[in-house]
Amino acid sequence: MTMTAAMPTPDTHTVLGACPHDCPDTCGLVTTVQDGVAIKLQGNPAHRHTGGVLCTKVSRYLERNAHPERLTQPLRRVGRKGEGRFEPVSWDEALDDIAARLKAIAADEPQAILPYSYAGTMGLVQGESMDRRFFHKLGASLLDRTICSTAGGEGLGYTLGGKVGMRIEHFAESKLILIWGSNAIASNLHFWRHAQAAKRAGARLVCIDPRRTETADKCDEHIALLPGTDGALALALMHELIVHDWLDHDYIARHTLGWEALRERALQWPPARAAAVCGVPVAQIEALARDYGTTKPAAIRLNYGMQRVRGGGNAARAVACLPALVGAWRHRAGGLLLSSSGQFPADRATLHRPDLLAGRQPRTLNMSSIGDVLTGDATALAGGPAVKAVVVYNSNPVAVAPESAKVAAGFAREDLFTVVLEQFQTDTADCADYLLPATTQLEHWDIHFSYGHTDVMLNRPAVAPRGQARSNAWVFRELARRMGWGEACFADDDETLCRQAFRPEAIDWAALERDGFATLPLPEAPFAEGGFPTPSGKCEFFSARLAAQGLDGLPDHLPNYEPAGSSADYPLAMISPPARNFLNSTFVNVTSLRSMEGEPLVEIHADDAAARGIADGAMVRVFNARGEHRCRAEVSRRARPGVVNGLGIWWRKLGVDGTNVNELTSQRLTDLGRGPTFYDCLVQVEAVAA
Ligand code: SF4
Repeated sequence: MTMTAAMPTPDTHTVLGACPHDCPDTCGLVTTVQDGVAIKLQGNPAHRHTGGVLCTKVSRYLERNAHPERLTQPLRRVGRKGEGRFEPVSWDEALDDIAARLKAIAADEPQAILPYSYAGTMGLVQGESMDRRFFHKLGASLLDRTICSTAGGEGLGYTLGGKVGMRIEHFAESKLILIWGSNAIASNLHFWRHAQAAKRAGARLVCIDPRRTETADKCDEHIALLPGTDGALALALMHELIVHDWLDHDYIARHTLGWEALRERALQWPPARAAAVCGVPVAQIEALARDYGTTKPAAIRLNYGMQRVRGGGNAARAVACLPALVGAWRHRAGGLLLSSSGQFPADRATLHRPDLLAGRQPRTLNMSSIGDVLTGDATALAGGPAVKAVVVYNSNPVAVAPESAKVAAGFAREDLFTVVLEQFQTDTADCADYLLPATTQLEHWDIHFSYGHTDVMLNRPAVAPRGQARSNAWVFRELARRMGWGEACFADDDETLCRQAFRPEAIDWAALERDGFATLPLPEAPFAEGGFPTPSGKCEFFSARLAAQGLDGLPDHLPNYEPAGSSADYPLAMISPPARNFLNSTFVNVTSLRSMEGEPLVEIHADDAAARGIADGAMVRVFNARGEHRCRAEVSRRARPGVVNGLGIWWRKLGVDGTNVNELTSQRLTDLGRGPTFYDCLVQVEAVAA
């Protein structure tokens, strides 16, 4: 590959890249480099899904890259576990010792070693290539990477056949858009441009979200349902579509499975029943159903917020049934999009090399239960040995995993050998035995799929790594060498790994190298004539695969583990959506962004605040049986009565008392996908002295 470079001056050039963050937009980047220093970062204007525009967060990426607190050399713990005190060591010293320690544990029981990673970078090379090969060869425990999207992903898979759906650009032609469980302005900015274009052309926008978000403010209507009641709302919409015959009978007959059974289920959900469950007016449900049943083309932008509750998988299934009922898929601007990631022909067998397991079948541990895993819960450990070593990369579990008091206790174990690959000294990094400095997206190769659009993106390094920082793939390559493994795949460099991520015939490599992106050749309206990637080829209202597991074959509403209003001690439901200027726990340490957020806060409705004598700006204690968290109260119309919004995800050590909202969330799992139930959480709030 050659560097793509316009050369305004002899020592200035631009480099094309891709945003690495856990965001559906996967923007194209253009970095201007002068004398080896990145001096400007812009959205790639030639990439239509980026349109030259970056969000506020990543437009500060140079500040983050040059941050004085970047980790620039390998560090070894000198203080107590979790204290965050380290001494510098050489790479050789660190890697030799890490390899020796892992080798010794593996000689006895390799499943006592656990990798822990998620989407700190979405890149296939730095996120899921050499690391997977390393742990497969080692025979380490496998990690079920559930923390974000598996409930909705599985719900979609059982209904449509995978993470497939509309192309994002076609929302601009829709006449009705339901923005369901998504604050698009904060976390799907480039979709919002299409929604605005549609609105300018006369479309109606409806936001379905417990919180009155910035997006809800700009929509024509906001349906502020209670957390975890989306499935009930979807079933009531079906009820109305049926009784008013706003159905596409031809599409249902030819391209769906289980219609009669779904009809019977939906008729049990008149709007009045759903209204009582959802906490919204009956008339609002009836009007929404009328709009959805009579407006063509109608589109649904579903997002993952709605599936972080007990019944999240079923709720996603129920919503995913709606477009087939009205034949919305017939039009390219109709249908639904939750994630486009299933449309990318990534060659994960080559990247991950599961054959290196050589017939071994290690147990799988759930990342959403990491608190229980590390504190020795037998169920969470799947009946296997205690975890003796954990290697964390692309993740900050001490801040982001649920029930964080247990997570912190687990990571504080003196007998847990902990290696952390990081760019900054996060809450998790504080717990490391070895803390290894990681490169940023401006400093390494990577290749990306997207879960919003349908372009493959290439990221070239623009500048040299800061200090001694090294890419994740480099670290695992070096560890493999020290293990003495001779397989050729452990010698693949990062650029080679980029090439291995997709089969050459699957994407337009010439375009990717030239432009930094390559558009997948996909149909305009993927299911206009059916052809869903399910076993039946149809949209499966009834799933025989679920029924075969002893589960309900039809979508239903499953009440939360902790339904709003069900506890006298903890009468408020809490959701914890991301603060606008943070991306999960990333960017919390970027001063300009943190100063925009101010300090950790919980939004509370005026009625709930008044009932507790809480003034706007008061310091409060948010608590339940799992823990407590102190923060500032914002009496806000963004909170509906009975629900508080604890904006996340602050680093614990940057919070008021070394906690964040995950002190309150539970480790209980979703109905499908074994995902976390962050938004299924009851609390009480009380004023405390500042
Ligand atoms: S976080 Fe999302 S919107 Fe922001 S630059 Fe990255 S991909 Fe684009």
